[in-house]
Amino acid sequence: MSKPSPKAFDIVTIGDRCKECEICVTVCPTKVLVISDVMNRNGYKVSFAANPDKCIGCRLCEWSCPDFAIFVKQGEGKSRGLIVWSSPEKAVAR
Ligand code: SF4
Ligand code: SF4
Repeated sequence: MSKPSPKAFDIVTIGDRCKECEICVTVCPTKVLVISDVMNRNGYKVSFAANPDKCIGCRLCEWSCPDFAIFVKQGEGKSRGLIVWSSPEKAVAR
């Protein structure tokens, strides 16, 4: 396993919690986040870190999300944007 890089972050959206409110997209100072085309089973398109290399790890997105649907953690090597699900069947469309 490679050693964690201090400048690499994993920006993780919990897809089934997201309500497409765009707060995280708005507060991100470096325009990392977008609303993706991935829809959850509630009919909301979920946020996604489309420009992970621009992430500075400030966690404003995490602290601002009213639904605890996004978090940022130390990554390894290269920053990544990820969408995860509580259970696979909760993702219904792309
Ligand atoms: S991750 Fe949170 S703040 Fe961002 S769009 Fe989804 S619900 Fe809103
Ligand atoms: S941690 Fe900061 S820079 Fe990174 S995606 Fe969240 S708001 Fe944007």
